[in-house]
Amino acid sequence: MEAQMSGTVQFSCKCGKVSGRVADVTAKNSVRLACSCKHCRAFAAYLGDAERSFQNDYVQLMQTQPWMISFESGKEYLRNLRLTAKGPLRWYASCCDTPLCNTLPRRFPPFVSILVANFARQDDLPPVTFHAFCDHLPEDQRVAPSGSSAFRKFVLQFLWRVVQGLPFRFRQNPFFDEKGVAISDTVPLDPLRKSAAYQA
Ligand SMILES: [Zn+2]
Ligand SMILES: [Zn+2]
Repeated sequence: MEAQMSGTVQFSCKCGKVSGRVADVTAKNSVRLACSCKHCRAFAAYLGDAERSFQNDYVQLMQTQPWMISFESGKEYLRNLRLTAKGPLRWYASCCDTPLCNTLPRRFPPFVSILVANFARQDDLPPVTFHAFCDHLPEDQRVAPSGSSAFRKFVLQFLWRVVQGLPFRFRQNPFFDEKGVAISDTVPLDPLRKSAAYQA
């Protein structure tokens, strides 16, 4: 039988002003993945945080359920930016430019991916079970597992989380107000900084 872990995990920005927790994390309600897509990379590079966020050409993220997240301090420092018109909102702590997490532009479907680098005790998180967008990496640098069966499992787990959010739990989301509007406006991108971030 798989070890069933469950616990509350703490996260914070680099300077510590923004802090919060994810309650009752299990390998069922949260998926830890590695992503090598150019947008995740550019997000970290844009904020000058590529070194901290990236390990061996990928960023680790924990996808979890928004209602499990609560902020303990510094919520007023939260800002988001958007690298592409249809892409996710990428949230960061404006006190120290720490990339924090991604959400969709609306509360439904419920979705949040927190950068693993922000967790104090990364060993308490579930192990990596999926590596996305790693095709460009040499075979020996990819984090197992990748490929279609890991992807199928990942999609099923996402759908399971969507169902968990119905009919009303998805409304409980610290990044959106009670009307479902994002709590901060999207900060416009500096075009030069953006193109430099994609080349970094
Ligand atoms: Zn900070
Ligand atoms: Zn990515």
